[in-house]
Amino acid sequence: MGPPGAGKGTQASTIAAHFGIPAISTGDIFRANVSKGTELGIEAKRYMDAGEYVPDDVTNRMVRNRIDEPDATPGFLLDGYPRTLAQVEELDGMIGFTGHSLDAVVVLTVNPEELVQRLLERAKTEGRADDTEDVIRRRQEIYAEQTEPLIEVYRERGALIEVDGLGEIDEVTERIFAALATVHQS
Ligand code: ADP
Repeated sequence: MGPPGAGKGTQASTIAAHFGIPAISTGDIFRANVSKGTELGIEAKRYMDAGEYVPDDVTNRMVRNRIDEPDATPGFLLDGYPRTLAQVEELDGMIGFTGHSLDAVVVLTVNPEELVQRLLERAKTEGRADDTEDVIRRRQEIYAEQTEPLIEVYRERGALIEVDGLGEIDEVTERIFAALATVHQS
């Protein structure tokens, strides 16, 4: 977890590769569907371009299908999901059903102004349609309203790992691995 621009996607790929499990990024799956012009992509695009969340039923169904794929049987890392309380409940149900358990929830913390700058930089290099300043600010607002409350939910469950997301990519990766090592020992 972490606000837009915190570096979730970058870190998710490295961590998942280390554990030999897929990194499942809801944002990437939506974007792939938008590029292919699928029905899901057409529906999701309206929300994504405005910086709004795609409705829970659409997102939940997509994640359920993805974790049913054989490569997710040994485990998986979710990037960008859950983002709402309804998605937390749905995820609990899904992993209860598949027999997986939640090992850890990693939150990357970064100062909001730093994030806007990072996203504007990313807009120049990657050209994402939702990286304009207005949409970036909207995405930060929605994160604060809908997703930040999940941090307390997972803290209460004792699953939360908070990592400072400021610094070089490799430094942040090292912090995450160090924090995850303590989880697996306990
Ligand atoms: P960000 O850097 O903004 O977190 P993502 O690539 O993770 O970017 O997501 C891009 C967009 O995809 C979000 O702004 C939202 O519209 C949609 N999206 C991704 N994950 C979810 C989710 N779990 N629930 C609803 N919408 C989502």
